[in-house]
Amino acid sequence: MTRDCGVSAMVFAALVVFAPKPARPQGATPAAADATALYALLRQTTVDPRQVYIVHGAKIERGGAKFFFDRGLVALFAPVGGEVTGAVFSGEGEVLLIPPNPVEKRNLNQFIGAPILEEHFVSAFMRFTDQTAQEILAQARRPGPDDPEAPAGFVEYWDTVARRFDPAYAGPILAGLFGDRSKPFFQSQLEGVEFGTFQITDDERLPEALSVGAVRMAGGRAFADLWCSFPSRPSEPLGVEAGMGAARVMSYKLDILIHPDNRLEGRAELELLSLSENARALIFQLARGLKVTAARYEQGQSLAIFQDESRQPTGSLVEGGFLTVLPAPRPPGTRYHLTFDYQGQVITDVGNGVLYVGAHDSWYPNFGIQSPATFDLTFRYPDHLALVATGVPVEEEMLAGGMKRSRWVSKTPLPVAGFNLGSYVSRERDVGSTKIEVYATREAESALERRRNVPTMEIIPQERGRVPPMPERTIRAIPTPLSPAALMDRVADRAVEAVEYFQSLFGPFPYPRLAISQIPGEFGQGWPELVYLPTFYFLPGRERAEVSPVSKGSDLEMETLLAHEVAHQWWGNEVGWKTYHDQWLSEGFASYAAAMFLARREGEKKFGELLKQYRRELLAKNQTGATIESGGPIWLGERLSTSLNPRGYNDIVYKKACWVLHMLHVLMAGPESGSDQRFIKMLGSFVAAYQGRSPSTEDFIRHAEKYMPKAMDLDHNGRLDWFFKDWVYGTGVPAYKLETKTRRLSGGRLDVEGTIEQTGVPEGFEMLVPVVAVYDKNRKMKLGLVPVGDSGGRFQFVVASRPHRVTVDGDDLLAAIE
Ligand SMILES: [Zn+2]
Repeated sequence: MTRDCGVSAMVFAALVVFAPKPARPQGATPAAADATALYALLRQTTVDPRQVYIVHGAKIERGGAKFFFDRGLVALFAPVGGEVTGAVFSGEGEVLLIPPNPVEKRNLNQFIGAPILEEHFVSAFMRFTDQTAQEILAQARRPGPDDPEAPAGFVEYWDTVARRFDPAYAGPILAGLFGDRSKPFFQSQLEGVEFGTFQITDDERLPEALSVGAVRMAGGRAFADLWCSFPSRPSEPLGVEAGMGAARVMSYKLDILIHPDNRLEGRAELELLSLSENARALIFQLARGLKVTAARYEQGQSLAIFQDESRQPTGSLVEGGFLTVLPAPRPPGTRYHLTFDYQGQVITDVGNGVLYVGAHDSWYPNFGIQSPATFDLTFRYPDHLALVATGVPVEEEMLAGGMKRSRWVSKTPLPVAGFNLGSYVSRERDVGSTKIEVYATREAESALERRRNVPTMEIIPQERGRVPPMPERTIRAIPTPLSPAALMDRVADRAVEAVEYFQSLFGPFPYPRLAISQIPGEFGQGWPELVYLPTFYFLPGRERAEVSPVSKGSDLEMETLLAHEVAHQWWGNEVGWKTYHDQWLSEGFASYAAAMFLARREGEKKFGELLKQYRRELLAKNQTGATIESGGPIWLGERLSTSLNPRGYNDIVYKKACWVLHMLHVLMAGPESGSDQRFIKMLGSFVAAYQGRSPSTEDFIRHAEKYMPKAMDLDHNGRLDWFFKDWVYGTGVPAYKLETKTRRLSGGRLDVEGTIEQTGVPEGFEMLVPVVAVYDKNRKMKLGLVPVGDSGGRFQFVVASRPHRVTVDGDDLLAAIE
């Protein structure tokens, strides 16, 4: 036996007597003054060599996950503040979990090859703020002289593991100890026999408390794959995740000083609304580069701050953020103030005077985006820079020492606040009472210049009186610098067009102004009143190609980028989304709005090309040989980007959702009227009904049903569940095969009869399939919508003249057509 476990029963008896007794019953909240001391202890807590036990047939259950510790050794962590917050196990165990719904079963199956989790494990590392220690202890006993020897180094091994994870767990455990004790936290890292290391979490503070996942590498990147995730109680509604239910921020007053070396120094005054009667811990997100230097409560009482200093992502709740503990809980519904001073580096000079504001959404302490608040922002910054922010500019003044001050106030709550700055030149346009501003730098960031691959130019010297051949010389052209500002007028005009068009579809522009500001790189973001548009977009096509030779497809996408970000003003900002499941309401609509804008500006042909490109991308294979689309339903949102399907989120939540909305549009128009009116009315009234709110997918379905034509009522119940079950909650792109027979009728007319066979989709998949008669390349006639299900579909149409062929309309349906 090892030194740690091989002691006799007698010694054990003595140890039991002298083992530290819990200072208070588990589950009581420690005093606030203890927080700092507790945090220090939690950062170095480890297994207690005196608390090693034998388990045989022990069992615990967490949120539906059953853990069986068949045989082996358990060690408890030394108590901290009177509470045992960890336990480890080595031996033979088994875990069993049955996801409660088909989506999660399917997803689990994708990762482990089975729809239920049934896995043997050889070790478990558990951290918790619940009764795990007591439960295990009640089923364990001290090793006796007849017990087999414990594996050598049992305690030492777990000691190393515990210390490695302590910095990551200190925050979540502390938050749990000072949080709502009726909502405990439990996390286990299991070493599975078949699946390797994976994690099971039951965090009752989250709407989806139960989750199973693992970190896996793909293409040199680490993915936190979520195998399944669901509420631990079936009745639990999927709620808003921000703030962990402890509080909501109602308003912000931010005072930000940007030094000439781009260092940021800030003071944030928050007004909070208490949501819980006993939670005192608040976890804020804040960019890793920023450090909180002071925190005050109400009238100036100083609060301790526990900030995650880990450089690497740890998967912990406090990751990159910080935790603070109130002196006492606040009754729900009451308001209070917190003030934070912080500083650090989130603005980077990327060359040629172009600045990059990293941490767009975490440059001030917050509970995550999608928790609307009002903002009063004051910035002081070097006067050679121009600064744009969310809200309305209400003051601007020059200060001494080459500095400037501006203040931006949002009168209505915004989901997030942002700013951007640079040596900008600007343009302004008016759309009704809305001001459109465009900001761009004269030169592009140096990284983009460096990437420039300027084609060599052939110089054929011309000599008077002589015709080549002469030796040809090629030289590298010396390019003029890339100038984003040069195309500002075009960008401004395009933005005006987009705003006008979207107003006609979605209703009035929701804010008094829209600032479009250039950021380095190739990606955009559309925040309330502030769009970040990449340098790349400001360049003319030829220069874009020089910077990054892009395919025709992605050039088309770049064309839609501005419209996509402008559309977010309605979809994403004015109307939010409830949980990650519903984010397609923002990204899908922004993508579809941008595609509709493309159709309007460039014609239906370009629209068709874009959708075909999306279809190709969705049907492309990932490294597992499956199609990207099959990675999971739109409803899984951000979870779709996994080690198995790295592009999943982008392709499914943006591109498939774009297709889904197009199909809804087509079906609502119907072949008879072909009118857009139903669909457009449906969108406009949805924006009006959910303005300033965060609708769910179900909210959208119930709304859309009010506008569906009779032909869409496939199930004769007035519901569109059949459509969303296939396309949003489900996966699969159908393949259709047509057989047709034509018969001449009187008067030269033809009777076209046929059948449609459906394959490639799960059982129960139904669709209204648009059938067209194709006459030549440029002329097709919509014949009708044919209901097609498991047993296929039949149709009969009468046409005036013989078509070249009758087929499924691939322009209007995400399908493979044979
Ligand atoms: Zn977007």
